[in-house]
Amino acid sequence: MTSFSELVRVSDQVAATPSRLAKVRALADFLRPLTREEIEIALPYLSGDIRQGKLAVGYGALQAARARGASAPSLALHDVDAAFAALKQVKGKGAAERRAALLRELFARATPEEQDFLVRLLVGELRQGALEGIMVEAVAAAAALPTAQVRRAVAFAGAIAPVAAAALGGGAAALAQFSVQLMQPVLPMLAQPAEDMRAALAALGTALVDWKLDGARVQVHKRGEEVRIYTRSLNDVTSRAPEIVAAMRGAPARELILDGEAIALRADGRPHPFQVTMSRFGSQQDPRAAERPLSVFFFDCLYKDGTVLFDHATRERRAALTAALPAEVVTPAIVTADADEAQRFYERALAAGHEGVMAKALEAPYEAGRRGAAWLKVKRARTLDLVVLAAEWGHGRRRGWLSNLHLGARDPATGSFVMLGKTFKGLTDATLEWQTHEFLKRETGRDEWTVHVRPDLVVEIAFNDLQESSQYPGGLALRFARVKGYRPDKRPEDADTIDTVRRIYEESLA
Ligand code: AMP
Repeated sequence: MTSFSELVRVSDQVAATPSRLAKVRALADFLRPLTREEIEIALPYLSGDIRQGKLAVGYGALQAARARGASAPSLALHDVDAAFAALKQVKGKGAAERRAALLRELFARATPEEQDFLVRLLVGELRQGALEGIMVEAVAAAAALPTAQVRRAVAFAGAIAPVAAAALGGGAAALAQFSVQLMQPVLPMLAQPAEDMRAALAALGTALVDWKLDGARVQVHKRGEEVRIYTRSLNDVTSRAPEIVAAMRGAPARELILDGEAIALRADGRPHPFQVTMSRFGSQQDPRAAERPLSVFFFDCLYKDGTVLFDHATRERRAALTAALPAEVVTPAIVTADADEAQRFYERALAAGHEGVMAKALEAPYEAGRRGAAWLKVKRARTLDLVVLAAEWGHGRRRGWLSNLHLGARDPATGSFVMLGKTFKGLTDATLEWQTHEFLKRETGRDEWTVHVRPDLVVEIAFNDLQESSQYPGGLALRFARVKGYRPDKRPEDADTIDTVRRIYEESLA
């Protein structure tokens, strides 16, 4: 039986090492001896979740339950799971007291380190999406299977825990149960940002370039007259989009799995603001749904009349898509290796009111659940006003100047700044010289590479994307950041907040 303290130790170890390999190794060693049941319990804990979902216990109740605790570890993973299951069941009159008593019992059996972990786990502080990729590698290493095979099974299963339990219990043969099935959604493939159109085509060679619409991801399954619609996070939203169901009825193929984007368009064909589309999929029914119908544009075909297409090339999947559907529900696209032609197509997409384009490697398979390098998004940059927290000394031609900027967004809760990334791009020689003087005036400390400064210079930063990051404290990092210019007219209190940054990121997850 595996002890809870072992899990706490591994979790700390994984958080403490920056080495991906060391994280994978530590997790794999931990997972290898676990039973099926223990895997189902432990995997969520390691990425900051619990299998019971949400428990109605707040920070206050947790703190109140903390006592001196045990001097030596005695809890097994099963004990913690059983305690959470009991907490989940408490309802009705007197629930708060009953919960407090259960928490006190659990905490009394936990060491101070275990108590700490429990608090952070239950308030959601340990949640980290960035661990998912590492966990897939760890499961593969523990089960001695190829990572790609495990990743594929996770995509089909929609979750990692059942796959880990099967892989460790039954090896490759047990993974075969996770394959594509109609009416069972699959994790969608995601894209990486490209710096611009030229860089995207340089990376991909000949590419399929299609419109990137700023709506909501939809995966549509069709079997005869039956149609199901799933979101990016695999929720069934069929009842929310009767227009899409109706559009599917006309498709001649009997069985289909399609990947696409739902978007509310105005009468002139231009998109409504993103929020209008999203209101259709929110927790409340949109009272104005009838006035603002959804359109759908499919960009991929993963299954058609008995043929599984995931492993087929983009080119073939596109051919299946265009054969299966009328042109008005397929994303406009070109196939080209010519960056100028692609650039013109991109500008037309922007002129039509859309977000940009996706450039897709023509021969690549559909990598379900992955942010693969085979899909590169090219979209108009966004900007944020951020605060300079520190700067690193430049190299080569920039030796002697403070160059690489550490950038932070304001945290209104604490008044401090949350680092989001670094950039040395977009700086002219004059700006380099000016900023070096300004930073040295504001120096608060330094090490060999870096001068830390009083955070009061606001700089406007353009960036292409935000990505989850285990490296930065806010859990998010800027991609392709560059300096547009200093904003002497703004004070640090006017800088953009971490909440704004999170909102931009969350909108990109629709
Ligand atoms: P982002 O949200 O910026 O990371 O971009 C990825 C998202 O763009 C996907 O999850 C889709 O919802 C959306 N998208 C819009 N148009 C396309 C397209 N033509 N191909 C792939 N994804 C698209």
